[in-house]
Amino acid sequence: MARLRLEHGTILPLEPKSAVIEDGTVVIDGANIAFVGPASQAPVDPDDEVIDCRGCAVMPGLVNAHTHVSMTLLRGYADDMALQPWLEKKIWPAEMKLRPEDVYWGAMLGIAEMIRGGVTTFSDMYHYFSAVADAVIESGIRGAVSGVLLGILPTAEDDLRRAIEFTCEMKRKAHPRLIPMLAPHAIYTCPDPLLVKTAEAAANLGVRLHIHLSETEKEVADCIAEHGETPVAHLESLGFLEVPSEVVHCVHLSDADITLLAKRQAGVVLCPTSNLKLASGFARTSNLMSAGACLGFGTDGAASNNNLDMFQEMKLGALLEKARTGNPEVVHAADALAMATRGAAATLGLAGQVGTLTPGLRADVIVVDLQSPHLQPHHSVLSHLVYSARAADVRDVIIEGEVVMRDRELFHLDEVEIIAKANECARRLVG
Ligand SMILES: [Zn+2]
Repeated sequence: MARLRLEHGTILPLEPKSAVIEDGTVVIDGANIAFVGPASQAPVDPDDEVIDCRGCAVMPGLVNAHTHVSMTLLRGYADDMALQPWLEKKIWPAEMKLRPEDVYWGAMLGIAEMIRGGVTTFSDMYHYFSAVADAVIESGIRGAVSGVLLGILPTAEDDLRRAIEFTCEMKRKAHPRLIPMLAPHAIYTCPDPLLVKTAEAAANLGVRLHIHLSETEKEVADCIAEHGETPVAHLESLGFLEVPSEVVHCVHLSDADITLLAKRQAGVVLCPTSNLKLASGFARTSNLMSAGACLGFGTDGAASNNNLDMFQEMKLGALLEKARTGNPEVVHAADALAMATRGAAATLGLAGQVGTLTPGLRADVIVVDLQSPHLQPHHSVLSHLVYSARAADVRDVIIEGEVVMRDRELFHLDEVEIIAKANECARRLVG
């Protein structure tokens, strides 16, 4: 495989404290980044495949640290409702009709949307997770895949057994772009014994846990009423947080919760759009940052967002915290960018593998076209990427060293077929 040379771009390595490199080059050799630096110092081989990045930002791919990708099928089906009736009256009844092929085509639709928006890694929690895994492998994206465990279902024990079997199989196959996890849905849908059993299984298998946590005031109040402690403290009491975990939402946290999550280095994933849409509240982002928590952003599912656009999450995540605290100086553009790249990668246990442009890391790289009117003039590329750019500005996407989108053309995905099949599945689910 020829080396790939991305040259003459504005390079944002997004390592802690790294500077922007004007007229820079990124060299990709196989699946890894081989060089990041000024074009004048780049190693040049006449056999290199060259991508001219003049007028573009070159940066690590975005990491969508929490979604239910196949919920693209329910996009726009149930809006403007509170979380509990939304789940019980609309989402769960539609999901009862799910078949593996629905999950597969919903995943393909979401993956096409995410690659177009510069997402190179996502973390998923859903039913029929092996169909999501198939979509990950075929599409070229990197994915953390977990089957959602709902303790309120009579099949919960079987579901856990199947999830463990799937995890063992994935670990055996060791696909370079597939990361298995175990995902109990939440403390309000999973009784303690299931949470403990799942955490023990994750520890034995050496995989991460993925759970919704402290999303609503009601969840926290119910947990305190039942257990006399907050959801975070309750997971700690169960030994759950001793296992590396991805904890999602974390909207309603006490000071002690924040200290504990930082101490455990749990991967805290904030989903600002979903929290706004379901009126769940406002995460204490700057408090989590000050405590040294491991922080990333996610879109959540398309039924509660309603897109999978990580540029929107970065912007909203930064703006909301300014409004919540009354302080425009919190969550700078650089902080938001870090949370959507290396921070989100760390929440999935992928620190040191993806999330920055660093020689030796896996080559997940995106090229963002900066030539549109809404991105002029170029006072600060960093600022533009958070406050002005859109998913549609992404021009090229490289994952694991492979070009999966070039000049906005997807190489592994037939969008016409995906859209037709996804619409067919969506009609059956809500019909
Ligand atoms: Zn979710």
